[in-house]
Amino acid sequence: MRRQVRRLAPLEACGLLAGMNRRVEMRIGVRNADQSPLHFHMEPLEQWRAFQRIESAGLELLGIYHSHPNGPDRPSPMDIAEAMYPVVQVIWFQQEGKWQARGFRIEAGKVREVALEVVGNE
Ligand SMILES: [Zn+2]
Repeated sequence: MRRQVRRLAPLEACGLLAGMNRRVEMRIGVRNADQSPLHFHMEPLEQWRAFQRIESAGLELLGIYHSHPNGPDRPSPMDIAEAMYPVVQVIWFQQEGKWQARGFRIEAGKVREVALEVVGNE
């Protein structure tokens, strides 16, 4: 994830995280159809293909990630308004030139931080 968000900055990068039992086993980068530094929409066909891959691997969608190359370390008002899936939203942001990630759940317009734990290389 970090490589992708770094490579695509200053545009927002986005993608999906899938796995089992709350443990991520698959990361799929999806093209930001907006090609914008301020917002993202997943390219619909790529997003659909990503969902197909997750399903055929027998995994479930656990998270959606995107980056805020110049933005806050938390979901923006637009992110909150547009949150559609009851999964963890991972936000990548820069702090003193280093990319960091935080996880949030957004339900009915309420944002709650959740702990992320790195168990592998990504
Ligand atoms: Zn955002």
